[in-house]
Amino acid sequence: MTTSTDSGKRIVVAIDGFSSSGKSTMARRLAASVGYRYIDSGAMYRAVALYALEHGMATEGGELQREAIVASLPQIKIDFKPQPDGTQHTLLNGADVETEIRQLRVSQVVSPVAAIPQVRRALVSMQQALGRDNGIVMDGRDIGTTVFPDAELKIYVDASAQTRAMRRYNELRAKGDTSVQYDDILANVMERDRIDRTRAESPLRRADDAISLDNSEMTLEEQDAWLLSRFDEVTRKGEQ
Ligand code: C5P
Repeated sequence: MTTSTDSGKRIVVAIDGFSSSGKSTMARRLAASVGYRYIDSGAMYRAVALYALEHGMATEGGELQREAIVASLPQIKIDFKPQPDGTQHTLLNGADVETEIRQLRVSQVVSPVAAIPQVRRALVSMQQALGRDNGIVMDGRDIGTTVFPDAELKIYVDASAQTRAMRRYNELRAKGDTSVQYDDILANVMERDRIDRTRAESPLRRADDAISLDNSEMTLEEQDAWLLSRFDEVTRKGEQ
């Protein structure tokens, strides 16, 4: 198999899909295998949601102080810090919040926060700046449609809500969170799908030129191999 780093052409890879569709895992693993930078755009929305929760601008019951959140955007600084194991942690104003942003209380407020147009515009421009030099794999909801409409490779990942909820449940249990209930996670996944699909500003939708992937029945290895072949096809075509 050719390894894609042989190719001189560095591209932008946009991977979009519903929550817990496995897109972050496939994006991270592709980036590691081809030597690209991986950016988890969902982590950026999660960091803003955490800031809103911590500053009393959002409640777990779903009430949001939209104007206060928008006014505090200039005070929110988000960075990614590479870890020795090759992953990266999200920093919010310098503090490592990687664990907190994955908690269910953040998942419960993140989609309404991400639906605020000014929040989206601020994060979209940060994401575009991160991708300026190419050689990037970014995953999210609107990467192929809004953030990088010219990305050379766009993937749209799907899997049933039940499969996705079970993945997220297993992930949280594996991290030691024994309080989580599958039904709560399924309800959260379905509610986030609804908000992500129906919001006015850059809703989740498949870009016309994206390749669809339903990975419900795929192993991680099959998924990696499938994505690497798509990547190789695009980078090789660019060389001819
Ligand atoms: O990908 P993840 O599930 O961590 O994303 C958290 C939330 O952030 C999503 O449910 C969605 O509401 C929002 N999001 C978004 N646009 C992106 C990435 C995430 O609206 N590009």
